Amino acid sequence: MPERLDGTVALVTGASSGIGEGAALALAEQGATVALAARRAERLEALASKIREGGGSVLTLTVDVTEEEQAREAVKRTVAEFGRLDTLVNNAGVMLLGPVVDAPVREWERMVQVNLLGLLYCAHAALPHLLSAAEDGPRRVADMVNVSSVAGRRARRGFGVYNATKHAVGAFSESLRQEVTGRHVRVSLVEPGAVETELFGHNRPEIQDLLSERYVGMERLQAGDIADAITYIVTRPRHVAINEMLIRPTEQE
Ligand code: NDP
Repeated sequence: MPERLDGTVALVTGASSGIGEGAALALAEQGATVALAARRAERLEALASKIREGGGSVLTLTVDVTEEEQAREAVKRTVAEFGRLDTLVNNAGVMLLGPVVDAPVREWERMVQVNLLGLLYCAHAALPHLLSAAEDGPRRVADMVNVSSVAGRRARRGFGVYNATKHAVGAFSESLRQEVTGRHVRVSLVEPGAVETELFGHNRPEIQDLLSERYVGMERLQAGDIADAITYIVTRPRHVAINEMLIRPTEQE
């Protein structure tokens, strides 16, 4: 049976659009107080207003997760404002695709910095608070949900460094899970297939054309479908840990 999240505090990275926005809304609907982190302040404010209109408590944090100090400060401010941290949704990410040969190396650096280092900085800063929440919080369990991808399970031509970052997130999550699960911090991996968000739009135009061809006629997932999965994970009772969830659009091979 699901448990509501009243009295708990969640920090969601990449909350200014797509999956993060959906997850923040869904967790607020379950009663969690939410801290919204991303770089686009105005988008966070719009989401915060929506959550407040629904009766929720919310904090916005303008954060670039690739800056360790900013990631640390986001966690610090969340705890200073709300007194605790029970749930971290490590969702911020970028996907810059294309062949390895002649690839712009700066794109690789960006993916490693956001998808991997950013996630590690947030995890590191949050862990002491998650451990405390698991010990004496309202639910006596805490959650770190790391958003990977189907690309973290299966490497494909044209996805090289994105695959590498998401495989790394999977490896890190499993190692950390083993380290902290005995103390009731659940580390979960969510692996979406194609979701209709802004993610594809950051690619070079020629890559965007290829992606459009790949998904033509396919009914992609919506951000809310992944928010549902995240909500399912974090609303399980204390003795149930959902370690991994792979969610594809039905038509995706
Ligand atoms: P969006 O582009 O809609 O959202 C990405 C989010 O990450 C934005 O809120 C963006 O906010 C944030 N972000 C990017 N860079 C930074 C940064 N340096 N610091 C802080 N926040 C940052 O895409 P999705 O919602 O689709 O992506 C969310 C996650 O889901 C990613 O990890 C992605 O890899 C994963 N995923 C997505 C799939 C899809 O098909 N869409 C499939 C599988 C996985 P801002 O720009 O305001 O900083």
